[in-house]
Amino acid sequence: MSYEGYRQKICVNLHYTRHPETYGCEPDKCMVCNTKKFVWSNEVDDTNCDQVGIVQESNIFELLGKSPDGQSVLRAPTEEDRALLQSLRGYTVWRMETDTIEFAGYLK
Ligand SMILES: [Zn+2]
Repeated sequence: MSYEGYRQKICVNLHYTRHPETYGCEPDKCMVCNTKKFVWSNEVDDTNCDQVGIVQESNIFELLGKSPDGQSVLRAPTEEDRALLQSLRGYTVWRMETDTIEFAGYLK
């Protein structure tokens, strides 16, 4: 099975976006403002559809604030924030009964 995944990113203009893995074929730009500069990036492995490494968006916005339109955080992460976000990486599980994806736990 080939690798599938995406990156959670925050650009220098504080837009929070999810980028599909592009295998270096396309320039990695913010999908909102097109900058190529990012202040935070987190790899999520979705090969087995369990999003290994995901940081819940609710945690990101709780930590860094959320703009009224929901597209941006309010401040760039500090070193401490980065460490905290790293510790919040986890994985998800798909619930067949409700056809929803739920956060299932933190990575060890
Ligand atoms: Zn941006």
